[in-house]
Amino acid sequence: MTQVELIVDARAGTGEGPVWDERTRKLVWVDIPGCAVHHYDPDTGADLAIDLGDRMPGCILIRDSGGYAVGTQHGFFGMSDSNILTEICAIEADDPVTRMNDGKCDRAGRIWAGTMAHAENAPGAGKFYRIDPDHSVTTILDSVTISNGTDWSLDNSLMYYIDTPTQNIDVFDFDFESGVATNRRPLVQVEEGMWPDGMTVDVEGNLWLALYGGSAVRCYSPAGSLMEVIEMPASQITSVAFGGDDYMDLYITSSAKNLSPAELDAETGPGGLFVCRPGVKGRPAATFAG
Ligand code: BGC
Ligand code: CA
Repeated sequence: MTQVELIVDARAGTGEGPVWDERTRKLVWVDIPGCAVHHYDPDTGADLAIDLGDRMPGCILIRDSGGYAVGTQHGFFGMSDSNILTEICAIEADDPVTRMNDGKCDRAGRIWAGTMAHAENAPGAGKFYRIDPDHSVTTILDSVTISNGTDWSLDNSLMYYIDTPTQNIDVFDFDFESGVATNRRPLVQVEEGMWPDGMTVDVEGNLWLALYGGSAVRCYSPAGSLMEVIEMPASQITSVAFGGDDYMDLYITSSAKNLSPAELDAETGPGGLFVCRPGVKGRPAATFAG
C-alpha cells in the first residue's frame, strides 16, 4: 500500500495547482482563498508563502521566459522571480461572480484554464479558455460549472478535462498543431458523494485523479479502468502533480473548506500538502511559451 505523508500542515482554505519547478527544485502550489503562492523545498521541508494581496490564484504555471503565469479572478499575470506581477491577459476581469480555477499548459506552450463561481453553486457560470503564447484568449467551452483538471495523452491526440459537478473525466480529440479540441465524451464517471478535481498523466499514459470528498487519489488507465487507489487521511483532495528529481514523488493538495471543527479534528492535514511514492514516474510540467 502506498503510504502518504503530510509534509505541510497548511490548513489551506483550498490548496491547489501543484507544479514541480525543475529550475528551483521546489514544489509550487497555491492557496486560493488565502491569496498565496507557496514554494515547498523538499530538501529543507520549508514552505514559503507569498501573499498576492487581493489576487486569488486558481493555478500557477511555469513560464519559459522566467517566473510563472498565475491565473486569478482578473485573468493571468506573469509573476517574476522577485514576485512582481504584470498582466498577461484579462479574463472575466470585471465579473465579481467568477474566478479562475485549475489550469495547465499543453506541450505546445499554450495555457488551458477555466473559471467557476466563487459561490460554486452556479451551474454554467464558468468558461474554459485557451491562452496562446501571443496572449490571445479563445473561449473553448462557454458553460462550465467548476472548471478543473486538464491533461493530455502521451501522443497529444487526446485532451482530458473535468467539469467537477458532472462527476466525469471527459475526453476530447485533440489537434496538437492547431490546439483545437473536438468530440467531447465521458471517459470515467465517479460514484455519488465524490467529485473529480485535479489530474495528471504519468509516463505510462495513466491518469492520476484527485477526488474531492473521496479521501483518495485514484489511477485510471487511458481506457478508463480503475487501476489503483491511494487512501488519503483528508477528505477534500484537490490536485496532484509528480515531482522530485526522479519525478516519482506524487504531491497532493487538499482543502479545509466548509469542514466543521469536528470534521477538521477527525482528519489529518485537511488543507495540507502531502507526498507519496506510488512507484511510477511522472512527466515534467509543460510550460507557458508566452
Ligand atoms: C476548487 C474548489 C472546489 C473544488 C471542488 C477545486 O478545484 O478550487 O473551490 O470546491 O474544486 O471539486
Ligand atoms: Ca482543481
